[in-house]
Parts: sequence; C-alpha cells; structure tokens
Amino acid sequence: MAVPRPADAGADSVGGMTSPGIAVAAATTLAAGLAAGLVGPGLASAQVSTGAAPPQRVCGTSQIPRSFAPPPTFFAAGPQRVIYLNRHGATFEIMGSTTDATTNVVHRDVSAGRQSRTAVIPPIESSFDWDGIVTCVTEHFRRFDVRVVEGEPEAGPYIEAIVGGDGTELGYSGGGLFGIAAADNFCGITERGVAFNFSTTHLNVPQRNAELCATIAHEVGHLLALEHEVLATDVMSYVLVADSSSKAFVDQASACGTSPGQERSCSCGGSTTNSAGRLTSYVGLKSTETVAPSLTVHAPGSDGRVEPWFRVTVTATDDEGLADVLVYLDGQAVGVDATPDGDRYEIVIEGAAIGGHHLAIVARDLAGNLTRTEMDITVSLRDNGAGCESGAQCAGGICATNADGNFCTQTCDPAGDDVCGGDFECIRAGDIDVCAPVGGGCGCAAGASRENLAGGLLLALAVVLGVRRRRRR
Ligand SMILES: [Zn+2]
Repeated sequence: MAVPRPADAGADSVGGMTSPGIAVAAATTLAAGLAAGLVGPGLASAQVSTGAAPPQRVCGTSQIPRSFAPPPTFFAAGPQRVIYLNRHGATFEIMGSTTDATTNVVHRDVSAGRQSRTAVIPPIESSFDWDGIVTCVTEHFRRFDVRVVEGEPEAGPYIEAIVGGDGTELGYSGGGLFGIAAADNFCGITERGVAFNFSTTHLNVPQRNAELCATIAHEVGHLLALEHEVLATDVMSYVLVADSSSKAFVDQASACGTSPGQERSCSCGGSTTNSAGRLTSYVGLKSTETVAPSLTVHAPGSDGRVEPWFRVTVTATDDEGLADVLVYLDGQAVGVDATPDGDRYEIVIEGAAIGGHHLAIVARDLAGNLTRTEMDITVSLRDNGAGCESGAQCAGGICATNADGNFCTQTCDPAGDDVCGGDFECIRAGDIDVCAPVGGGCGCAAGASRENLAGGLLLALAVVLGVRRRRRR
C-alpha cells in the first residue's frame, strides 16, 4: 500500500532522505554541509563540513509507519516493558526481517541504502559517565511502566538500546548521526525493537553525557510509539540539552516536527502530539505502590572478607512484585539478578581487586521502590596453609597438596630470608622450593584451574615421595 510521506521526511532545510523511508536531519559537523545543500543521495555520502553551524541532534529514525510491521497496538498497556541498556557492544544482522532484540536481527530500514549488512557495534567509550547515563535514562522513564536494566534479560520480549559506535556500522558516514531506531511498529510499540545510540558522535557535543542520555531516551521513545515534536524541552525534539532549559517527556501538546520553527505534519494522526501522553497511553504509568522490598543478605558474611571471585547471595521479596537485585562495587554496577530461585538471588562477582571496597546491594520492585544495603568488604587471597582448589585463590599463587590435602602456599628461597614463618618450612618439591607444613612434605600443583590441579595431584604423589627436605634457616 502507498504510505503517505510525512512532510518531515521531505525537503527539510537541514535534512533530506538518505534512502527510502529514512528521514535525517543535519547535525554537528554535518550541519553546515547539509544546510549548504550538499545533501547527497544519502547521509552516507553527505559532505562533512567543519563549518560553524551549531550542532543539532541527528536522528535517523524513519517517521513512516511501515506496511510490513504488525499494526500498532493502541493503548496496549500490557505487562511492564523492559529496556535493556547495552554498553558492551554487539553484532546485529541487518536484513529484511522484523526486528528482534532477542536474536539481534534488525530490519534493514535502519541501514544506509536499506542494504542488508552485519553491523558490529563496539562498546561505549570509557570516557562517558555510564552510571550517570543509566540514572538519567531511568529518570526519564521513571513515571512510566517500564524497567530499565543493564543486564540482558534471559527471555524476551525486551527493547534494546545499544550504545556505541558512530553510525558507520550501519553504513552512514561517521560523526553525523546521534542515533536511529528500528521502530518497525512506528506509531505503536516495537516490542522487540532495537535503538542504536552512537556514543562516538557525542564525544565532542556539549554536555555529552546528558546529551547521550537524551539520545537514548529519544530513540527508545521511537520504539514506544513516539514521533518527533518541536517542543524544545521535550526529549523528542532535536534541540540539544545544552540549548534547552530542561529535557523530559513533557505532558504538553506540541506540533510535530523536529525543532521550533520546523513544524511538520504528524505521522501518527492528529495535528499535534504529546510524548508523555502517548507513553501513558501505550505503556501505562508505573504502579503507585510505595512499599519497598525486603532484603536480607546471606553473603558476604558480616566479617566482610571475600576473595576476588565471590558470590552475593540475598533473599528479597516485595508485596507486589520484585524486579531485580543489583550489586554495586565502589559505586559501579557490577551485577544483577532478575531470575531468582524462589526468593533467592545470587550475583557472582569476578575479578575484584585486592583491598578494601564498598559493596551496595539494591533490591528493586516493579514500581521502582528500592531497598539498599551497604557494607565494607575486604578482598584478599587465602593465607599459606588455607585449603584451596587452585592457585588463583592463594596469596602465594600456589595450591599445593600433601597427605593432608590441598593448601595454599608460595615459593621460597631455602638460602634466603624466612618467608614461610610459623609452622612452615622451605622445602624442595619437584623443581621449585615452597613453604610447606613442617614434617608434612609437599607436592606442588601450581596451576590456577581445576584441570591443572587434577594433573598436579598426580604429579604431586610422585613429588612427595621424592622430596628433599631442606632445613629452614
Ligand atoms: Zn528521532
């Protein structure tokens, strides 16, 4: 069927068509070139200029309802939607199929020239304040019945906001595009949609963290039935954070279009749009229940001693519904569990640095109420003599064995200073000298894995028999 092209997608003074269905507007370094009429057959071939035109948001999301997509599901509040913020990078197959975040398939309407391709999106640059961005995006959606998560849900449907790259991954010239959403079900909710948010494009934009947050909220907004509007303070306008007194999904009727003075006809009916109003209709408002979850921590124990690899185990419940349990180490989100075993949640932390840290455990219910527990922990490896399964658990790096079993130990120099101390002596075991319990003998399995240890145990039997004892000095 013929789909009417909204005026927004036509001859815009700062934009043009990159390909059928892809409306773009100029921004950042592309702005001057595009404004000067250098719009090529697509954004991919647009001339990049370093002119002094002010930066402007560039969103590549098509404003045209697609004929292939399922019809918009109006007022389908339904179950709480999950928005997965992915900063880790991912590979997407861009093809002719309906977008599905759970399988990393994206409809080719987001691709330059509508070409099928494999898009490898790199992780976000470390120079961004990711935790601040997550907090900011969560705040934009706080009123609405969605849940923002950082861990990939184990089951769909969910909406994914991938954050990284510069747009070249989708065939566009780098540095111009802020983001583009695979809003297959434009004007309705794309339940398994993918929003691309190009962090690299934001590196030199004023207030880049706030701007990247706004881009994520904007592109996810397209997946939640929102179109562009001219209201400067609204997330769905092209006006930069730096040029606006505030940014939000504003509950106010606005002309459709991209910026003040750039009014266009609306794509999804009516003569005006209202981002907050549409979110309320399509995803619903979050429950107003205010009872915070209960949270009991089982591990780490009260002494706060853990190893670099450790488990956080808690019991958490809520009167209406618990969403997930999150773990923060020194303020950084390091783990989440949204799939409990009954009321029991477990998060494995790997690679914690030796020393003191601050651990925060947060239980979050479906209405967004939080219960937080904090504790100081000390990350250390096991002392010599402690039981072990691999050398990685031991401060001395060696998990050895003797007739009494496995124990942590370290190398030593029989002619040097006494590093073994206490009830240990420096003895020869195989081809190295190690600290071993006095009179206990030792075979050494210095491997860091179970597999190595298993081999080491066999070796150890032979070594124990042949050990040459050296006296401790
Ligand atoms: Zn947009």
